[in-house]
Amino acid sequence: MNKNSIYGLTIEQLTSWLGKHGYKPYRASQVWNYLYRERVTTFSEMVDIKADCIELLTENFTIQTLREHVKQEASDGTVKFLFKLNDGNLIETVLMRHKYGLSVCVTTQVGCNIGCSFCASGLLTKTRDLSSGEIVEQIMNVQHHLDTAGEGEKVSHIVVMGIGEPFDNFQNMIDFLKIMIDQKGLAIGSRHITVSTSGIVNKMYEFADVNIPVNLALSLHAPNNELRTKIMKINRAFPVEQLMDAINYYIEKTNRRITIEYILLKDVNDHVEEAVELAALFQDKKKKTYINLIPYNPVDEHSQYQRSDQESVLAFYDTLKKNGINCKIRQEHGTDIDAACGQLRSKQIKKDKDQSIKS
Ligand code: SAH
Ligand code: SF4
Repeated sequence: MNKNSIYGLTIEQLTSWLGKHGYKPYRASQVWNYLYRERVTTFSEMVDIKADCIELLTENFTIQTLREHVKQEASDGTVKFLFKLNDGNLIETVLMRHKYGLSVCVTTQVGCNIGCSFCASGLLTKTRDLSSGEIVEQIMNVQHHLDTAGEGEKVSHIVVMGIGEPFDNFQNMIDFLKIMIDQKGLAIGSRHITVSTSGIVNKMYEFADVNIPVNLALSLHAPNNELRTKIMKINRAFPVEQLMDAINYYIEKTNRRITIEYILLKDVNDHVEEAVELAALFQDKKKKTYINLIPYNPVDEHSQYQRSDQESVLAFYDTLKKNGINCKIRQEHGTDIDAACGQLRSKQIKKDKDQSIKS
């Protein structure tokens, strides 16, 4: 039997599952405490829990489905992990150090079907969704890595910006968020979590309705349909007007600010005209939007795109500012390792294949 990861259960689900097997809710709280506070890595370390309960858990769940396959550390302290899943698939997770804390970028799918023309993750189409447990385990593995270093550091921020489209794996992503913000677990501040979507409009409405108070980021990357469709084919299904309606709904429903991500691609979407158009798009929502200008991480297979030069980036930024738009140029991390999302994974898959051909 292929056992599920115990990390995939929310506290309610764990309580109800143990309840069905005759255990009182405090047992679930104890298990939860061992997982997220004591952070044990085997069931047998849950020493205060009776043997029959440990046996039941061991029979039905696993506690470690991810195996560390590759770990790269950059000079700025960024650590990139490549994990092997039970079925042999590889996923990527990144730990970044900021002045405000430690943030982890998690993967939600093996590959991505959205296929944006600039992205390394889209090079390999989706094999499958990750379970909620596999998403939670990425955070736990990074936290265990920090625990082992012994300096008492804790993951404080999460960005759901690794491989995959989180809104194409909606329920597992929601369960993951619930587990992360649980006060008796890791208790990561919901304002410290950001979920990024390429703009699956119907799911943006659903996300607003679920109303878990985490931040939402939308990968817009172009201010009009013609340009956006060229770089993101998903725009055919969910064009800019529909995105703007969904943004309005989200703001109205949650009263939260939304982040707009905009990768700057040299001579493609980085002209002052596009900055003017972008500013116009958000003129009536200045207080509720924040634009993140992202330097492009070149991907070997997408050689048609280059990073914008510094002059164009600054001119773009100044134009937005002049129009009263909140924006910033995103700081980069781990530039001396394969930093762009999905890059390490696609390179490693090639390397592993080459090795298996040789041997
Ligand atoms: N699928 C979701 C989340 C994962 S991608 C989404 O698209 O939003 C997270 C962010 O990284 C997105 O804004 C995406 O456009 C950006 N991104 C992808 N490839 C990149 C690259 N090579 N350089 C810089 N940003 C990239
Ligand atoms: Fe998928 Fe996001 Fe990459 Fe587009 S940018 S291919 S949606 S991971």
